[in-house]
Amino acid sequence: MSRWVLVIILIIISFMIFGFSNKQPFSDSLPLLGKVIVVDPGHGGRDPGTMYGSIYEKDINLAISKVLERVLSQKGAIVYMIREDDSDLSSIYDAKKKRGDLYRRILFIEDEKKHTDLYLSIHINWYRNSSWSGAEVLYHPINPNNKVLGEILMKHFKNDYHTQRSLKKTDLYLYRNTTIPGVLIECGFLSNPNERYLLRQESYQEKISNTITNAVIEYFQTIAITASG
Ligand SMILES: [Zn+2]
Repeated sequence: MSRWVLVIILIIISFMIFGFSNKQPFSDSLPLLGKVIVVDPGHGGRDPGTMYGSIYEKDINLAISKVLERVLSQKGAIVYMIREDDSDLSSIYDAKKKRGDLYRRILFIEDEKKHTDLYLSIHINWYRNSSWSGAEVLYHPINPNNKVLGEILMKHFKNDYHTQRSLKKTDLYLYRNTTIPGVLIECGFLSNPNERYLLRQESYQEKISNTITNAVIEYFQTIAITASG
């Protein structure tokens, strides 16, 4: 081997070690590093949510949430799941079980020890007209960042699925009492035959989780720019 060949090989090796590693900073592959996200799979236990025959919303919410937990974690986030199985958070002594369930979800999100940056409630929609389809995001203006997050999520859903739905306000108990930023995501319609099939497929749950995660990454970039500018 000539000396020049050896020099060129050494240059290539050093470029691979120093050049590429500098071009690919840690934060590019882990854009959610340092972020704490609570995933709230809607309903559960005694509360099935909406249903079609023996297909329950609570089960689809949990399945999507588990995929979302993995995808967010792979981007660097710390993820807390409000429930990991078919249970709700009510106490056997709660006079109003649904209220007790939602109250404890708020406490879980607002728990100061977690330092939660964001929460995402995962639900499935229903409408009497079965032609309605598409994901829809709902927010309460209690925190101004909720609308920012909702608009970014809706933009990503429109880009990825051409959904006809749009951002809406909600006045539901959980959302009007949670001060940490977050939104309610209706991932699609159980009343629509096509989405009823798709929402139960793992490949589609993965696609939805990727859309949500990309929107969450853009949200954190957007509020960082707003805060510094
Ligand atoms: Zn629901």
